[in-house]
Amino acid sequence: MLRLPEFRHHHPASLADALALLRTHAGDVLPIAGGTDLVPNMKHRLFTPGHIVSLKQLDELRGVAVTGGELVIGAAETLAHLAAHPLVRRHAPSLARAAGLVAGPQLRAMGTIGGNLCLDTRCTYYNQTHFWRQALGFCLKKDGDVCHVTKTGRKCVAANSADTPPALISLGASVELESAEDSRHVKVADLFIADGVWNTVRRPDELLTRVRVPLSPPGRRTAFEKLRQRNAIDFPLLNVAVAATIGEGERVESLTVVVSALGARPRIVSGLDDLAAGRPLDAGLVDEVAERAFQQCHPLTNIIVDPDWRRAMVPVHVRRALSAMVGSPRSART
Ligand SMILES: Cc1cc2nc3c(=O)[nH]c(=O)nc-3n(C[C@H](O)[C@H](O)[C@H](O)COP(=O)(O)OP(=O)(O)OC[C@H]3O[C@@H](n4cnc5c(N)ncnc54)[C@H](O)[C@@H]3O)c2cc1C
Ligand code: SF4
Repeated sequence: MLRLPEFRHHHPASLADALALLRTHAGDVLPIAGGTDLVPNMKHRLFTPGHIVSLKQLDELRGVAVTGGELVIGAAETLAHLAAHPLVRRHAPSLARAAGLVAGPQLRAMGTIGGNLCLDTRCTYYNQTHFWRQALGFCLKKDGDVCHVTKTGRKCVAANSADTPPALISLGASVELESAEDSRHVKVADLFIADGVWNTVRRPDELLTRVRVPLSPPGRRTAFEKLRQRNAIDFPLLNVAVAATIGEGERVESLTVVVSALGARPRIVSGLDDLAAGRPLDAGLVDEVAERAFQQCHPLTNIIVDPDWRRAMVPVHVRRALSAMVGSPRSART
C-alpha cells in the first residue's frame, strides 16, 4: 500500500488567506484543488510538501459567467460541471468536449480546471513509485541528474498531459494568476514553457484564479480530438484542438491547430494562416494541414507507447478534428 507522507492540511476561507499561507510556507507548500493528481503524486513521493492549502472553500474561485465579452470561469470549477455547463457548451464547445474527455466520471467530478492547467508533466520514468525510480537511479526531474528519454542531463521533456490547455490556446484564452503581492493576466499560449521540471510561468506563490475565454467571432468553429489507450479513463497519448473562422463561401479566414501531450508545452502548428487563408475548407486543405502538423510534431519515448505510432496518429486526429467542421455551421462534436 502506498501511504501519504506527513503534512499539515490548511482550509482557508478566503483567497487572501490562501495566498498568505502560500507566502508564509514558501518552499514547503502546495495548493490542492480536486487532489486527483496531487494525491497520487504525493503517494509516489514526487512531492512531499509539509503544508497543503485547500482551495475547496474559496468562493472567489467559483462561477461561470459571460461578462465583458468573455466567458469567465473560476479555477475551482470541476471538469464535470464545465463539460455540461450551457454557457461553456455554447461559447467554448471544444473546451466542454476536452473537459468531458478527461479521465473518467469520478475524476471529472473532483478534478478542476485550475488543477488541469497546473497539472504536473508526466513521463514513463517519473510517474512511478519511489522504489521503482530509485532502482533506476532517479532522473533529472526529481532526485537525479540524467534524463532517460533524451539520455543527457540537460533537459526534461516530460509531457504536458492535460486536455484543456490545447482547447484554451486555440480559443485565445487567458488566465489570471494572483499572489499575496500582485496579480497578472497571462495568455494560455504563453503559460507553458518547454521545461518538464516546472512547465509553466506560474510562480509557486501564485494561484491560478480564473480562466477567461473571449467570446467567439461570427463564423467560429472548433473541435477537440484525443487519442488514449482506454477511452474510459486514460491520460492523452495525443490531443488536438482546432479553432477556425470560416467566412463567405466556406472560405477560411483564420485557422489554429494545437497538438499536445508530446512535450512539456502544447505545440501550435505554425504557418497555417498562410496555408489556409482564403481557401475553402475542403478535403484537399484538410490533408495539407494534417501533413503540416505531421512534419512539425515529434513524439518522444516520454510516454510508453511507440513514438513512431503516436506520430503517425497526429495527422489522423488533425484530419478528424478538421473534417468534423467541414460544412458545420457551428462547432464540431461536443
Ligand atoms: C487515472 C487518472 C486519469 C487521468 N486522466 C486524465 C486525462 O485524461 N486528462 C487530463 O487532463 N488529466 C487526467 N488526469 C489528471 C487529473 O485528474 C486532472 O488533470 C484534473 O483536472 C486535475 O485537477 P485537480 O483539481 O484534481 O488538481 P490537483 O490534483 O488538486 O492539483 C494538480 C496540481 O495543480 C496545482 N493546483 C491545483 N489548482 C491550482 C490553482 N488554482 N492554482 C495553482 N495551482 C493549482 C496543485 O498544487 C497540483 O500541483 C488523470 C488522473 C488520474 C488519476
Ligand atoms: S523526460 Fe527525462 S528528466 Fe523528464 S521525467 Fe522523463 S526521464 Fe525524467
